[in-house]
Amino acid sequence: MSSNNHGTCGTCDYFGDGIEQQQLIQIRINPESAPEAFSACAAPRNAEIHLSVGPRAGCDAWKPAA
Ligand code: SF4
Repeated sequence: MSSNNHGTCGTCDYFGDGIEQQQLIQIRINPESAPEAFSACAAPRNAEIHLSVGPRAGCDAWKPAA
């Protein structure tokens, strides 16, 4: 994987439930900083199956974090 973090859960708007705000900011800057920080995915298509993801995962529903 390249150093380009576009498309990873850690930079996705649907990631971050249950993660402390300061840590989430760090993850959004660098998804490699906390690979153990799992979050429920809030994307409608994934939330209904209660998908839990790590910062380095990804899917086609990726939406850039605001
Ligand atoms: S699984 Fe997809 S929609 Fe959910 S946080 Fe990761 S990239 Fe975003």
